[in-house]
Amino acid sequence: RADRALYTAKLTGRDRCVLDDLDNVDLTRDLARALAAGEVRAWLQPIVSPQDGSVSGWEALARWEHPTRGPVPPNRFIPLAESTGLIHELGSAILADACRAANQIRLAWRREFLLTVNVSGRQLTAPGYAEGLFEILRETGFPADLLVVEVTESLLDGTSLEALRALEALRRRGVCVAIDDFGTGYSAFSRLDVLPADYLKLDQEFIAGITTSPRRAAMLQALLQLAHALGIAVIAEGVETREQGDMLAGFGCPLVQGYHFGRPVDPADVLDQGPKASDASVQALTLAAARW
Ligand code: C2E
Ligand code: MG
Ligand code: MG
Ligand code: MG
Repeated sequence: RADRALYTAKLTGRDRCVLDDLDNVDLTRDLARALAAGEVRAWLQPIVSPQDGSVSGWEALARWEHPTRGPVPPNRFIPLAESTGLIHELGSAILADACRAANQIRLAWRREFLLTVNVSGRQLTAPGYAEGLFEILRETGFPADLLVVEVTESLLDGTSLEALRALEALRRRGVCVAIDDFGTGYSAFSRLDVLPADYLKLDQEFIAGITTSPRRAAMLQALLQLAHALGIAVIAEGVETREQGDMLAGFGCPLVQGYHFGRPVDPADVLDQGPKASDASVQALTLAAARW
């Protein structure tokens, strides 16, 4: 391994690409094995109301602790899963794990929460996707009307009728749709009125400037009003500072998510808090969570 690391460091250009390909082959094989062994888990990050800090929901985020490499970032293994077709298995594993955990939490707390789950285009348009999703809901007991699937806006640019059809099939049966990473790239502003969206997740990139740029703050306020008028609920992502949280609360943003309110955690740690868990105890737990 050390020899290989040295070898890798000396390579450049085309040779480097070949080696990256080899590494992808290794990692793909390991990912397939990890999925079969149940080693890819759903962690949960709280989605909270900025007004009172109460937990309204959780976003499921895939976590993979590789036996020798340590934690592998989702931005590394999700694209790999998409390109190799493992995304279907990964998606089902994460959905099932997250629904099971969220159901245990709501039963322990005697309170309802949203659960949001990321879905890639390739998953959504696979034949039988909706049936598989409802099968997992039945098995885990998690209610369809508390589930939100997160898709990126590029998926909804109108070119994939299959994607739009799949989302409509989910919505007819109570599942909600969120547009993830809104405000990056060329946002589908002109199509907000026709998109099958119940939630709009404002990307961290959009949120980052709100307390330093008055023009960005004006855009935020206008976007919140527009979404409200369209009956779409906004979730601000990547909220890292108290100032950002205060501004979002002041502007009436219904939901926020970010390191200022809590990091993703292993759901087992939430359940360990038992029935006495509260918004405050969950905040303390998630604020102290290790960074992935
Ligand atoms: P995303 O869906 O936009 O998820 C938000 C990402 O921002 C997560 O990164 C989360 O840990 C991180 N985050 C949350 N709050 C903050 C903050 O205040 N500051 C900063 N800097 N980051 C914050 P993560 O878990 O590394 O996931 C990265 C991306 O990988 C996700 O972006 C999503 O696109 C994808 N992903 C993760 N899990 C799944 C999955 O189960 N299925 C699919 N298809 N994609 C997934
Ligand atoms: Mg997301
Ligand atoms: Mg996002
Ligand atoms: Mg993102």
